Amino acid sequence: MNKIPCEIVPLLLDWFAQNKRDLPWRHTKDPYPIWLSEIMLQQTRVEAVKPYYKRFLEVCPSVEALASLPEEQLYKLWEGLGYYSRARNLQKAAKTILSDFGGVFPSDHKSLQKLPGIGDYTAGAIASIAFGERVPAVDGNVLRVVARLTASDKDIALPETKAAFRELLLPLIPEQAGDFNQSLIELGATVCLPNGEPKCESCPLASLCRARMEGNVLELPKRSKKPPRKIEDRTVLLIEDGGRTALSKRPDKGLLAGLYELPNTKGHLDEAALLTFIRSLGFEPLRWSRLEDAKHIFTHVEWHMIAYAVRISPEFDERAGSDRCFLVDNEILHRDYAIPSAFSAYIKYL
Ligand code: SF4
Repeated sequence: MNKIPCEIVPLLLDWFAQNKRDLPWRHTKDPYPIWLSEIMLQQTRVEAVKPYYKRFLEVCPSVEALASLPEEQLYKLWEGLGYYSRARNLQKAAKTILSDFGGVFPSDHKSLQKLPGIGDYTAGAIASIAFGERVPAVDGNVLRVVARLTASDKDIALPETKAAFRELLLPLIPEQAGDFNQSLIELGATVCLPNGEPKCESCPLASLCRARMEGNVLELPKRSKKPPRKIEDRTVLLIEDGGRTALSKRPDKGLLAGLYELPNTKGHLDEAALLTFIRSLGFEPLRWSRLEDAKHIFTHVEWHMIAYAVRISPEFDERAGSDRCFLVDNEILHRDYAIPSAFSAYIKYL
């Protein structure tokens, strides 16, 4: 594999000093907000993260506050960001910092990876930005920049490619490790763009870039295709009595673990199966009507949903129902419950 020329270091540091975006988490060296921003930025755009980051820190300004936040409030703060396992892991990690690290944020790449939800990249980002440790932080942006810079045709979806790029970067990391790592990430996010749109004419590394010299920028990086997502048919119920709506809680493991949802089940139910399902939840319907179909895409699975609005009597005894399902006042539902965006096509009716 071609080496990375060491001349990139001063070029990138200069470029970063002049061109970096002014982002809220770049005004601190405190590991807690840096960690929070890194977790939020996984799978979420910078602009979308900004208001969540601000609000989260207002409610939860410290590891201690995060560790003791009630679960429902945590999910409510995260509502709309998706990938709720990130929020769960944040809280688990905060509790681990208190129980296993005496409340002191771990300060090196190795110890950071002992915290739930922190892998090689996030540990590298926190260790270098907050503590100045000279370790790489290789995310998707860095993989793309390095693949082009070295004209590597290695598959960047493979862990061994990531490990090899990490080894190439390791001896180059300067004292300003945090700025260097951020400069590579920033270059990938704003200049060395994916999908055939790199802005090579404004790239500080243009004169050193092998892919540019060899004329194959648009073919790089190489990435093997992900397996297709599984399609799952589901039937969703909006069960209402005029002021209250039925919710159920998902199991503690798996997709959307531990979150509240509109009652739903696998398959597209016909009317006979629908009645059986409603009764199995402990409700007796007065009437129902079909709502529009909707689709939601998760990382590995795609839900193709049909849905019914089901009316039950307001006299319905709320102690009835089942242990899987309960009625919640609509105002309280909107205020206190974080319903996954998979159900947004139907929650809008409340
Ligand atoms: S010259 Fe173009 S391809 Fe090479 S690193 Fe810069 S933006 Fe990326």
